[in-house]
Formats: sequence, structure tokens, C-alpha cells
Amino acid sequence: LSFLSTLGMDALKSNGVFASVASANGHAQGEGEVFSVASPINGETVAQLRNASTEQLEQVVADASEAFRVLRTIPAPKRGELVRRIGNLAREYKEALAAVITLESGKITQEALGEVQEWIDVCDFAVGLSRQLHGLSIVSERPGHRMMEQWQPLGPVAVISAFNFPMAVWSWNAMLAFVCGDPIVWKPSEKTPLCALACQMIVDKALATMPEMPKALSQVIIGGRDLGQAICEDKRFPLVSATGSTAMGRSVAQTVGARLGRSLLELGGNNAMIVSPTADLDLAQRAIVFSAVGTAGQRCTTLRRLIAHESIVEDLVARLLKSYPSLRIGDPSVQGTLIGPLIDESSFNRMQHALAAARAQGGEVIYGGERIEQNVPAGGFYVRPAIVRIAHDAPVVHEETFAPILYVLTYSSVEEAIEINNEVPQGLSSAIFTESMREAELFMSAAGSDCGIANVNIGTSGAEIGGAFGGEKETGGGRESGSDAWKNYMRRTTNTINYGGELPLAQGIVFE
Ligand code: NAD
Repeated sequence: LSFLSTLGMDALKSNGVFASVASANGHAQGEGEVFSVASPINGETVAQLRNASTEQLEQVVADASEAFRVLRTIPAPKRGELVRRIGNLAREYKEALAAVITLESGKITQEALGEVQEWIDVCDFAVGLSRQLHGLSIVSERPGHRMMEQWQPLGPVAVISAFNFPMAVWSWNAMLAFVCGDPIVWKPSEKTPLCALACQMIVDKALATMPEMPKALSQVIIGGRDLGQAICEDKRFPLVSATGSTAMGRSVAQTVGARLGRSLLELGGNNAMIVSPTADLDLAQRAIVFSAVGTAGQRCTTLRRLIAHESIVEDLVARLLKSYPSLRIGDPSVQGTLIGPLIDESSFNRMQHALAAARAQGGEVIYGGERIEQNVPAGGFYVRPAIVRIAHDAPVVHEETFAPILYVLTYSSVEEAIEINNEVPQGLSSAIFTESMREAELFMSAAGSDCGIANVNIGTSGAEIGGAFGGEKETGGGRESGSDAWKNYMRRTTNTINYGGELPLAQGIVFE
């Protein structure tokens, strides 16, 4: 675990217990229950922490509110300079940061490095953005008047995140929020607190080089669902950005909505790929394998439903049955491993329940699904990814099971395939493999995929940071990362300026 020392994390530990409240102002252990973090690699305890109390949250929110008063007046390009330094440090410590991701989430090294790269990329994006927080200039209907729109900092933003992207999701939010002038309070998943503390160490290092910045612009607070709920109730957060299951998002939306706050939700997906009879099957096969088994099926964009045309389904399935056995499953920190462990035993149990339900609903498990205990570290939950032939309307196919299960469904017309794509409650990512321009355009049209992401000849997972990321329906409707997602972190003001000597009223109203 020398990478923890490389990141300076020994300073966060006292009597063997890590801090649960951390910022450049200092750190403190939580005042609540002690809990252990186990590595999914082998089930061994890697850290002990205590849940932070609501009194500790109170102090954190007070500090964030104070930091906001300073941060909002610092010019955005200056705030961008902080993000530039954070990005440079993330480059410098990339391997150590990736090692923490692998340790806590079980992600293979290549994908963990990719996750840190995503953080670096979003830093670059945010630095450019810090000089482009443009508003509009609008013509006025009144003589001697001018109208404009300005984007102003919003206030302290809470980020609640999931275990499977323990750094990237925070970085999409935090790097944009910092340039927009908002402090961040981050409650990471209770399964990946060390990742959050490692990110905080990087931000602290950058802040140490810019003493004019308020130290409490970035804070981490560790706790479970109760702490998440207390955050949602706190009116001092104008925005709560929450990533996780649909059940969690529903609770967050109701709590934040009840106080008329804003929530930005990134929830579960049930992503499909249509493979047309015209598709390049070599490309499709590679895309299916990465999207379906990458991150052991624990990405929100994981391919869960393969909608194959009835004329090519047998060929496609035969290809998958050939490639799946060659996928190397095991210790995610070993070079060459492609599939690491599930996050924990309850995740494994949920996978087994889903497979049993699929069988009971008329499906046939044609490959995998079982636990592997040979040639893998003992104590981890390693599984052979499953392939299941089943009807598109079986109830289990409409649920997100956060594990590597690929349901193979068939269709006869492209219109039917699009209906199958859209018939689930979730609406995150989707893809079509086709060489037909007509099919590709239909899939991306108003009558096509209803998802936030609709790809052509690329898999469902592995988005770039330049686009807005998120989805519709039970995925929550939020958009993060690129494009104009920054507008979530700002408030818009409309200004009308009268530079004339008269006071004409809008709509020509006479009031005298
Ligand atoms: P989870 O819902 O169990 O937990 C996510 C976070 O929410 C944790 O920090 C947890 O403590 C907190 N939380 C739980 N209940 C809460 C409540 N009532 N109020 C406030 N906070 C609460 O999710 P998980 O198992 O960590 O992650 C897997 C899920 O996340 C999957 O459904 C996956 O699709 C989704 N996900 C979505 C995206 C996306 O961008 N759409 C990205 C990553 C993960």
C-alpha cells in the first residue's frame, strides 16, 4: 500500500483510523460508528473510519458557505488556474491514484488509469471553460435599452457519489463547480472513502500554492445513507448532485425537491445495442465484449441488452461464445487481467437472484454466471460473465442488475428494435451497429432511441468528457461533464439596462 504514502495519506491516519472530515483546513475523525472498508480484491480490510456526525456536517456546511463568499468574487480565470494546478498534480500522481481506485473498487489497472485520465481531461476542459462562461446579449423592444444574461456562481454544491467511478464522477462535478465559483462538499460512497481522501490530498496540494483561495472550497465528509439524507435536507446547498441507484435518486429528488432545491441526478441504466443485418460483426463483437464485461459489468453504461437481428443472432452468439472463454478474470492489479471482482458478496447474490429469475421467466443461461475460486485471490467475488437468451419483455430484463449479465434478444424490423431499446424504465446509453445510413439516422432521430446517449458503431460504455453525460426517465435527467453542463453550477440573471432618458414600459403599457 505504498501508494497511500506516496499520496501523503499517512497524515490522515491516527491510531489506525482514517479521517472522515478533510479539507485544506485540516482533518478529523468522524464522531459516529467505526466501519471497515474491505478491498473487493480479497475481502481484506484496508481501512477503518468512523461515520461523520451531523454536528460535523454542520461545521462543514458553515465552512463551505463562508468559502463561497470569497470564491464567488475571485475571477473565473483565476479559479481556472487552481484547476490547472489540480490537473497537473493528477498527472503527476496518476499511477498512485489509479492504485487506490483498484484497491477499493476492484477496477483493473488499465481502467483505473483511464478514470484518472478522465479527471485530467475534465481539468483541461474546465480551465478552458473558465474563460468562456458566456452569457447572451439580447435586443430590447424598448428604445434606449439593452438586455443581457449573466451566469453567476450558485453556492456550495453537494456531491454524493457511487462506488464504481470513485474519482471521475466527483471530478466532473468539482472541476466545473470550482471554475463556476462554487465550493464542493463531497460525500463519497462508503465503499470507496480512500479514493475521496486521495483526491482531497491532491486538491490540498494545489491549494497550498494559491493562498488567496479559500481553503474550504473543497471538503470531504464520510458517512452512509443517513449523512446523505442530512445533506439533501440542508437548504444551504442550492444544488445536490447525486450519482447512484434509481432508489437513491428517488429519495434525493424528493428531499431536495421538498425544499425547492435543485438536484442533478445520474442514476441507473439498462443499456442496449441493436445489431443490424448490415453491421460489421467484427467491430460489433469487440464493442459488445468491452461494453458488457468491462469493469465486471459495473458501469452505469454497461451493455445489458443485445438486440440482434434474427438473421445474424446465431452468428453473433457463436462469436461471443468464442471470445468469452478467453477473457482473463482475476486480480485487477495484475497486468493482463480484463475482468476484476464484483464489489462485494451482496452484489454477487443479486447477480445470482437475477439469473434464477431469468431462468424462471423462460430464459436460458448459455454461458457463465458462476463464481470462480481458482486462480483468483481468495476472498473476492469473481464471476464468469453470463450470457442469457431470453424474451425482451421478461421482467428481469427491464431491471438493472449491477453485474456482468448480457441478455440476448432478437428483432425482425428496425422499428421493432427501437421499441425494444426504449421499452425499459431507464434511459442512459444506447447504440446501433449498422452500415445503413437510414437505420443510423432513424436511431438518432426524434423517433429513435430515447436515451441521453445514442451511439453509432461504438459500444454503450466509455464516453468522452467533451459531451454532456447523462440520461432520461429513471436515469434521472441530469447532464454532467462537457458541452453546456457547466450551467448546472451557476445561476442565470437577466439584466435590463435603461441608458435613455425615458421610462417606456414593456408590452407598450401606459401607466399614468
Ligand atoms: P447507491 O445508490 O447504493 O449509493 C450511491 C451513493 O448514494 C452512496 O454515496 C450512498 O451512501 C448514497 N445514498 C444512498 N441512499 C441515499 C439516500 N437515501 N439519500 C442520500 N444519499 C444516499 O449506488 P452504488 O451501489 O454505489 O452505485 C451503483 C449505482 O450507481 C448503479 O445503479 C449505477 O447505474 C449508478 N451509477 C450511475 C451513473 C450515471 O452517471 N448515471 C454513474 C455511476 C453509477
